Amino acid sequence: MRIVLVGPPGAGKGTQAGLLSEKLGVPHISTGDLFRAHVEKATELGLEAKRYMDAGELVPDGVTNAMVHQRLVEPDARVGFLLDGFPRTVAQADALNVCLSDNGSKLDAVLELEVSERVVMERLLGRGRNDDSEEVIHRRFEVFRNETAPLLEYYGDRLVTVDAVGSVNEVTTRALRALQALP
Ligand code: AMP
Repeated sequence: MRIVLVGPPGAGKGTQAGLLSEKLGVPHISTGDLFRAHVEKATELGLEAKRYMDAGELVPDGVTNAMVHQRLVEPDARVGFLLDGFPRTVAQADALNVCLSDNGSKLDAVLELEVSERVVMERLLGRGRNDDSEEVIHRRFEVFRNETAPLLEYYGDRLVTVDAVGSVNEVTTRALRALQALP
């Protein structure tokens, strides 16, 4: 299966992607994790990305698309993947389409984790990551509303929406059921 996971910051994308990728037997590909690994290794890409990440801004599409493309051509991603945190802009979604149609494949579903801003703000403030100060969180929400939310309409018929309020297991179960119910 080829799945994209979309949701506001703090919706639990990383947690759910990890669990779902295990159940579905496809690699979990998180652009946030890929960027953080580059930052840790202090690569050129990492140094460039860090400036944006620390400010809650998106890393420019060119850099991000190239990194994802490189990951998607690895053998394990050929049979399927669960993309977490990508695409985050319509331009990235277009780039993903090109990348997939080059291989004669397409997305099976876009899984939206739906949760209110109030709930996720509480979660995020308790998480303590570098880019989790209140100011940066607000900016990440703004970026989500402006840049990423338009994807929900973009993906229209492939969108599968799941209520992301509840225990981790409840949300995983809902997501698996919704995916199994796909035509
Ligand atoms: P995440 O772990 O998905 O919350 O991502 C953390 C940060 O990495 C984001 O706030 C962005 O700065 C950057 N990032 C992750 N994915 C993308 C993407 N698809 N496009 C641009 N920047 C991204």
